[in-house]
Amino acid sequence: MTDTPEEIIAPPKGMVGTALMRGMRRCCPNCGAHTLFVGYTKVAPVCTSCGLETGNFRADDAPPYFTIFVVGHIVVGAALAVEQNYHPPLWVHAALWGPLTLALSLALLPLFKGAVIGVQWAMGIRG
Ligand SMILES: [Zn+2]
Repeated sequence: MTDTPEEIIAPPKGMVGTALMRGMRRCCPNCGAHTLFVGYTKVAPVCTSCGLETGNFRADDAPPYFTIFVVGHIVVGAALAVEQNYHPPLWVHAALWGPLTLALSLALLPLFKGAVIGVQWAMGIRG
């Protein structure tokens, strides 16, 4: 019996957490090599380390959804807490929350995209 590529890259049971964490680190969910993305969030078609076809996984709208959900809760909560405790002028709010929202969104989007792809691989979900 020969190993086909599908047999080689089939995820072992109980890999969801590991694959999620590897994906969040922008690493291949199968081998952990830093090969998941070729750009900011462009998924590499194939892992150059283990041959996993990562281009088959489509995260679609899940990463932006999770990013908006998390960033919104952080920024709105922080803005309300600052306003309630310090009552700063409006220009302080404008100077703080716009850049923070942009920075958090840009930082978290690749993490969530990698995590979604890792979970898709571990659960056998193909796009
Ligand atoms: Zn790999």
